[in-house]
Amino acid sequence: MFDKILIANRGEIAVRIIRTCKRLGIGAVAVYSEADSRSAHVREADESVFIGPPPAGESYLSKEKLIAAARACGCQAVHPGYGFLSENAEFARMVTDEGLAFVGPPSSAIALLGDKIASKALALQAGLPVVPGHAEPVSDAEEAQAIAERIGFPLLLKPAAGGGGRGMRVISRPEDFASALSQCRAETRKAFADDKIFMEKFISRPRHIEIQIMADQHGNLVYFPERECSIQRRYQKVIEETPSPAIDRSLWQRMGRLACSLAAEAGYANAGTVEFIMDQQQEFYFLEMNTRLQVEHPITEMVTSLDLVELQILVAAGDPLPLKQEEVRTRGWAIEARICAEDPARDFSPTTGMITRYALPRGENVRVDSGIGAGSVINIYYDSLLAKVAAWGENREAARTALIRALNGYHIEGVITNVDFANAVLDHPIFARGDLSTDFIEQNFEEGKSKRLPNPEHVRSMAIASVLVYHTRQSLVRESLKPMTPVVGSSSQAKKPRDYVVRVNPYVFNIRLDGDRKSREWRIFVDGNAYEVITPDFEYYRRRLVLKIDGQSHMFRLQYRENHIQVAFCGLVCTFEIYSPAEWKLARYMRQDKEEGRDNTLKCPMPGLITAVYVKEGDYVRKGQEIIRMESMKMETGIPAPHDGLIEKVLVVSGQAVEVDETLAIFAASRAEESEADSL
Ligand code: ADP
Ligand code: ADP
Ligand code: MG
Repeated sequence: MFDKILIANRGEIAVRIIRTCKRLGIGAVAVYSEADSRSAHVREADESVFIGPPPAGESYLSKEKLIAAARACGCQAVHPGYGFLSENAEFARMVTDEGLAFVGPPSSAIALLGDKIASKALALQAGLPVVPGHAEPVSDAEEAQAIAERIGFPLLLKPAAGGGGRGMRVISRPEDFASALSQCRAETRKAFADDKIFMEKFISRPRHIEIQIMADQHGNLVYFPERECSIQRRYQKVIEETPSPAIDRSLWQRMGRLACSLAAEAGYANAGTVEFIMDQQQEFYFLEMNTRLQVEHPITEMVTSLDLVELQILVAAGDPLPLKQEEVRTRGWAIEARICAEDPARDFSPTTGMITRYALPRGENVRVDSGIGAGSVINIYYDSLLAKVAAWGENREAARTALIRALNGYHIEGVITNVDFANAVLDHPIFARGDLSTDFIEQNFEEGKSKRLPNPEHVRSMAIASVLVYHTRQSLVRESLKPMTPVVGSSSQAKKPRDYVVRVNPYVFNIRLDGDRKSREWRIFVDGNAYEVITPDFEYYRRRLVLKIDGQSHMFRLQYRENHIQVAFCGLVCTFEIYSPAEWKLARYMRQDKEEGRDNTLKCPMPGLITAVYVKEGDYVRKGQEIIRMESMKMETGIPAPHDGLIEKVLVVSGQAVEVDETLAIFAASRAEESEADSL
């Protein structure tokens, strides 16, 4: 067995691998860039090596630096994690050429399976059904169009070297070919330094089902329970679960055996995942094989009680697999949510900042894989995945409710994340039914929000939470003043029921609190309906609150916003305004919702780097026309003009780093506005 392993990665996956190394008594060596010197993976490792400046190309993607670090520390193996160099055949070869073990498949298998065109051919050879299409690189739009007639519409253009859902384009009409092909080609070239593109039939409303396999170097192979990863956004997974509500035992075995045939055909060893796409008739087709540890591997570990990283290390050291197929046992259900630094309200664009306050989800059967904590700085250089939260239950519903509760308590302040978006997906009745498909989010969400009305029962519970916190806070303040003003606030006053009016658009609740803080038992009337509520002796400055409402325990996340209280619960985030009945009377007359005037400035939607500026002062632009391009967290984004208008000033240049909400350009005031200003 190895006594030291270099982990050629960062973030949550590096932390996760380090933990297994430690448990096995193997030394873990971390590497870090300038941006990561105080990161969790560096703190948790036994040793760490500095490998360069923040951009990945000069640090985490530098094969030479990584191998030199492994050498310098006397490591015998390199674990690549996922992403970065994990599926780089040349890196795997360089590692083994150095006499180090690569904790992953042989370089030859990575090369064979890394190209989707080549892997499709291999899959056919191994007897797997593949998506109907044209598994050859297409050269031009004309040729592609001719082939398309045969495959039929809609179809999908796919980069052969693809990954992370990038570059793919759906085409529904022949006339869209030329532009889609050139866009796909440009994106592919940039992202993967390769421009081979092929075509597949686009399967409508499919499920994504995948099989995790593990192979040793002696020809033994096992497959694990299927994972369903149909909840995706732009072809990227958001929520994963195992097993799948759509797969029975015999279908699982069929898929499992086929996955193993492909691995055998490729001369595979170590962990890998064979991805399938399954249509509404339960016909399934091979998509691709990922030759590494998968992001969503924790859910497999939760239902099998295995440590996949441990198996990877054993196999890489030349040991035979310690279990046979019959010994793969599964128990219960596990669901995982990916927590990313992104803003669902701004089209999920990446967010950055420093985490100022952090509280982990709690709960039995909850697992958090994370690389962050209070004080972590989230920057623009790396992937936006911050953490994964997974929950286990005896059945799907138990796992789902456990995960919702866990996310209700996951408090991350300082950086906007998708925590509540993921929770809204989990709380959605269609998700609860298990009626999944890859277009679920597109169908049921808009601008990061569920299209259905908030569950009124949830809103009521949140209103109760907000009033209790408000009330407790007020009475604590009153109490602290008592010694100074002995006349004010006799103790009998606290026993009187208290009335509040709570406003949360579009609702107004009349809430009466009966009970007192010391007994912790309340009878709360919401618009006349009574609820029995029990509170633990909470401290009002906490950010999480547990309440038992009519016997059911719930956790709420709280934030004070000026004199309002923001509550997050089951994916809903609402800001409650709380009034005494007298104040409410006044407020109702005073309120005037601010009217939004048109803004003449173009604000930056996310932090990042400007890569191109297409306009100059005096240019007239059309609404929607791309005027600036920027790059952030590996993603390029075009910034369109918000309306027609004349550019008065451009405030940024290519190469400049920008912050969110920074002004990029100023439009000249339109004539209508000017004349309005004149007449004033
Ligand atoms: P990547 O390497 O980016 O993961 P995949 O081939 O695995 O690419 O596809 C990613 C996702 O794209 C799938 O999970 C699925 O949602 C969608 N997808 C891929 N191929 C098809 C197809 N032929 N029809 C419909 N959806 C597809
Ligand atoms: P903070 O972020 O302010 O430190 P946490 O959410 O991490 O707050 O909670 C910290 C502590 O508060 C935990 O020990 C938890 O048990 C306790 N706590 C949370 N909610 C309540 C409550 N309703 N009553 C009493 N203690 C609570
Ligand atoms: Mg894939």
